[in-house]
Amino acid sequence: MGARRINPNPISQYRSYTRDELCSKLDVSYGTILNWEKAGLPALGGSPRLYHGAAVVAFLKQRNSSKKRRCPDGMLYCIPCRDFREPAGAMVEFHHRPPKPGYLEALCPVCSRIMRRLARRDRLPLIMPNVDIQSGASQ
Ligand SMILES: [Zn+2]
Repeated sequence: MGARRINPNPISQYRSYTRDELCSKLDVSYGTILNWEKAGLPALGGSPRLYHGAAVVAFLKQRNSSKKRRCPDGMLYCIPCRDFREPAGAMVEFHHRPPKPGYLEALCPVCSRIMRRLARRDRLPLIMPNVDIQSGASQ
């Protein structure tokens, strides 16, 4: 949980890598590679241990996609809490800033910090049903 996404692009599908090479190509620690192996990254036998590039790319893509979570309607994502929350007091401010997308701002009911969510004005009733949306000052 909460681990960052790793970009698989530096890895070639057509060659194999040692742990040290994976660490430097992907900028991760040795322990991370061991954790990936426990989580299902297949290793080729032998010493030093080798990992096939195609397997590493497939593993990272699967791992990255399973982390993507769509923000449910009526909620915003609280970065400090690392979770979706309903706005405290059902109060939400919409900041309109054309031509860029506007954003919603609300307080987290758990940690009381500001949560933000990009939103188009015409979709507000869908994104935030049953919430009274105030118009905030544009920035
Ligand atoms: Zn929070």
